[in-house]
Amino acid sequence: MTAAVLVLLAAAAFSARWNWWRPVSRGPAILMYHKVGDPPPGDRLSKLWVRTADFRRQMDWLKKRGYAVMTLRDLAAVYGRGQEPPERSAVITFDDGYRNNLTEALPVLAGFGFPCVVFMVSEAVGGENFWRGGGEAGTEMLSAEELRSLAAKGVEIGSHTMRHRNLARIAGGEAREELAGSKARLEEVLGAPVTSFAYPYGGGAFDDGIRDLVKKAGYTCAVSVKQGKPRPGDDLFRLKRILVRGDDNMLDFVLNVTRGKSRF
Ligand SMILES: [Zn+2]
Repeated sequence: MTAAVLVLLAAAAFSARWNWWRPVSRGPAILMYHKVGDPPPGDRLSKLWVRTADFRRQMDWLKKRGYAVMTLRDLAAVYGRGQEPPERSAVITFDDGYRNNLTEALPVLAGFGFPCVVFMVSEAVGGENFWRGGGEAGTEMLSAEELRSLAAKGVEIGSHTMRHRNLARIAGGEAREELAGSKARLEEVLGAPVTSFAYPYGGGAFDDGIRDLVKKAGYTCAVSVKQGKPRPGDDLFRLKRILVRGDDNMLDFVLNVTRGKSRF
């Protein structure tokens, strides 16, 4: 095989893995994280752990490129005024409410002056990720006091239901209870309104009935797990996000933030 053929093959393999050729897309990058730190040995969902050093590199990249980082509440307010957020803008979200968001991620975020959003499973406050299955390690969740201390530091606390249930797989009455109950419980803990929601497993975000239940429960915006960046005029109750995986490298991160996705 000639060198030219080898180069072509390498280029084809690279382009099949990273879609660098996709055009840069507008819209805020709403990043979705779960756990920050080192995955416990044997955790079969280690992709949901982003190491602290990687997280710091990612935040550093956003800072150096002048990204405006805001909460979802702020983003919803910008859209509510019929405006667009700055071209380079991002929202940093954490699903479930792990204690490592406070111990690992917050010191990094504070160093860059970035706010974030934590979507808390209300019945897991002060407990563990009790809904886990299939080899995922038990992980400590934030306590009521820790949630209050995060909120006092400018972190937005949103709801992720009461029991981490997939709203698309339960009856309407139960979904209503999950939406209202978690909102009421978190508001009681915080003494402040909870206005953002994240669908567990993304379930129901694209079901009009469930989306309407979220709105009727009093939330002002909600995020899905559909990969991509919101476009002008998108529904505020099914905003797309970008999953940051533990095995992503910096090229993945940059392509995700600028193009909405890094992989096929
Ligand atoms: Zn979740």
